[in-house]
Amino acid sequence: MGSAEVPVIEVTGLTKRYPGTLAVDDVDLSVHAGQIYALLGLNGAGKTTLIRMLLGMIAPASGSARLLGADVTTGPRSAWARTGYLVEAPAAYPELTVRENLHLYARLRRLKHPGRHVEDIIERLALTTYAGRRARTLSMGNLQRLALAKALIHTPDLLILDEPVNGLDPAGVVEIRTLLTGLAREHGTTVLISSHLLAEVARLGGRIGILHQGRLLAEHDADSLDQHRRRHLNVSTRDDTTADRVLRDHGYHPGPGLLLADERALTRPEEVATILVEAGVPPTELRLVEEDLETYFLRIVGAGDA
Ligand code: ATP
Repeated sequence: MGSAEVPVIEVTGLTKRYPGTLAVDDVDLSVHAGQIYALLGLNGAGKTTLIRMLLGMIAPASGSARLLGADVTTGPRSAWARTGYLVEAPAAYPELTVRENLHLYARLRRLKHPGRHVEDIIERLALTTYAGRRARTLSMGNLQRLALAKALIHTPDLLILDEPVNGLDPAGVVEIRTLLTGLAREHGTTVLISSHLLAEVARLGGRIGILHQGRLLAEHDADSLDQHRRRHLNVSTRDDTTADRVLRDHGYHPGPGLLLADERALTRPEEVATILVEAGVPPTELRLVEEDLETYFLRIVGAGDA
């Protein structure tokens, strides 16, 4: 397990250029032991490129990355033994069974008791029914499970997963979420995942970094996301022109469609109702509307385009 003081992942000024594209643009990022960190971004945001640099698969143009205290380009390879990863499409030897694939991988990882690790991970990833099946006959979801089994077979301290729930059905998504939160909570495993689904990463309960056009635009604790979502009081009357004037006279700032974002309206909607009733334009509807997670995400990302 990594020390609590030194971040398990430490990224400084990481940058990668492709012809015509700044795929990753000066990213600073720090993930602590036992933390779940989700990189959230649309297609092409730079998530895979950032993860591939973290894993030493491609070299950055500038900046540095340290995993478990070791620099990924110049440091010792010892950190790799403690890291599990899944990046890009899940791959397996198609003619080998699930169990044979895992045995091969356990030997590559030089595990002392490969058989024990293989059977253990087959059970944990609910692959028992498929253990004797050739990989080429697996569904996309079970192939993804096999790839996750490979990433986890040596009980790594650090897990780096690029879009780990791609191809899984809703039950599989919940299973992986439970697995990841359990690993972080019970074993102190540090997890970095990428995803394009805000609602999904919000449920992981860790920290969320929003990546867009290569830049890290915002970071939030999943628990505090609610505070960043916009809320409005949606008011309807039979005479919105009069209602708009009355509300302005009382110091509110109604937007188009009588949407009120004033804190006072949000915390005391009954005062808005009373004012409108007394002015002879009673509300036909008064509703607190909260921005949903996906709208929030798109608003933040839209700000990045400006
Ligand atoms: P997705 O969810 O679609 O995988 P992503 O967030 O992982 O998206 P990246 O694959 O990292 O995004 O791509 C970031 C940008 O870099 C994109 O504009 C992509 O076209 C570009 N890019 C990625 N790899 C290469 C490459 N090998 N050569 C040229 N451009 C690349």
